Amino acid sequence: MNVEGRRIEIRGVVQGVGFRHWVYRLARENGLYYPPDPGAAEQSQIGGNIATNAGGPHAFKYGVTGAWVTGLEAVVPPGEVIAVGGPIRKDVAGYDLKSLLIGSEGTLGIVTAAWLRLLPAPEASYPVAAFYEGTTAGCRAIERVVGSGLVVAALEYLDAGTLTAAGGAFPVPVHAGAGFLVLAEADGSQSEAEVLRGDVVAALGDEALDVFAPREPEVVRALWRWRDGVSIAVTAQRGGKVSEDIVVPLDRLAEAIERTVEIGQRHELPACSWGHAGDGNLHSTFLVSPTRPEELERASQASEELFVLAAELGGSISGEHGTGWVKRGQFRRQLSPKAIDLMAAIKGQFDPKGLLNPGKKL
Ligand SMILES: Cc1cc2nc3c(=O)[nH]c(=O)nc-3n(C[C@H](O)[C@H](O)[C@H](O)COP(=O)(O)OP(=O)(O)OC[C@H]3O[C@@H](n4cnc5c(N)ncnc54)[C@H](O)[C@@H]3O)c2cc1C
Repeated sequence: MNVEGRRIEIRGVVQGVGFRHWVYRLARENGLYYPPDPGAAEQSQIGGNIATNAGGPHAFKYGVTGAWVTGLEAVVPPGEVIAVGGPIRKDVAGYDLKSLLIGSEGTLGIVTAAWLRLLPAPEASYPVAAFYEGTTAGCRAIERVVGSGLVVAALEYLDAGTLTAAGGAFPVPVHAGAGFLVLAEADGSQSEAEVLRGDVVAALGDEALDVFAPREPEVVRALWRWRDGVSIAVTAQRGGKVSEDIVVPLDRLAEAIERTVEIGQRHELPACSWGHAGDGNLHSTFLVSPTRPEELERASQASEELFVLAAELGGSISGEHGTGWVKRGQFRRQLSPKAIDLMAAIKGQFDPKGLLNPGKKL
């Protein structure tokens, strides 16, 4: 890890319980900040974050994991160790193998070490949560923030179904008429964050039923802890869920949120969504009961419709989870056959015997 000429060496593997927490803790203890913050904080590892090019709420301002990796060491078939990049800020020598490995979901190589870029930690971070009657008003508020050029660190949303599932644990009682939540964060130096917080409250406050903008560190922490638990609260509704992570252009976000619920209705499944609004990245979700396999089948048909929707709206089938096994090949909906042939050729060059995560992704 490297910041402004200071380097903190962490020697160890990039995989292992708690490794990601270790990176965050060391950064924090040194007044530094590693921005990527995908959910599942207790489980996911830096190696997995790099392999999926993971995002998270703060990717809106700071970018996804790949933006913070300056070098990688990886084992590639049949078993050679390669290093690309390193503790350097710029590197345009050769083709960009580092970026190929990032997000390759373990299909090209196994990441064994990484050089991560860090920032001086922002002096202050203030969340602003605003509740609206419904999706239309909420999405107008999101567009107001983005359209005003306010550089917020995070810009998240929860729709009505998600609020029903998770609202009970929100740090303060949720307005009874609320059917949509927008959660933004203003960060920077103390004075920058204060000014931005005021601008965000003004932009989100228009049309809002209620605005909650805590400053107390313990309440701020409780708010983000609550946001981390949203996915689990949704799962708890029926014991299971099928959740996708489609991306759409920002001006189609409201339509994608509403059509997620309609797709669920067509397949007789409760549906909801939440996610990284500023990035147009929705966790469109169908609730299922684990004891009813036919619901899982219907949820998978509903997911297919979501992928069609993402392509129709000019978006992508995945903004951060990747395609893995379940969604393998789905990106044919958004890529030309030639682009897919090139990807297959790249896989063939790295892994001619198809040893690494066979069948995944392509
Ligand atoms: C509650 C919840 C919330 C989530 N929120 C987010 C979110 O906000 N943003 C987001 O992006 N994701 C999110 N995710 C998805 C998941 O946490 C991320 O995709 C995460 O990056 C996966 O990391 P992992 O260590 O768990 O990898 P795994 O799930 O173990 O592996 C993911 C893939 O990477 C490969 N892989 C793992 N380690 C390596 C390695 N060292 N080298 C090469 N390949 C490897 C695996 O083979 C697999 O194909 C969420 C998941 C849950 C359960």
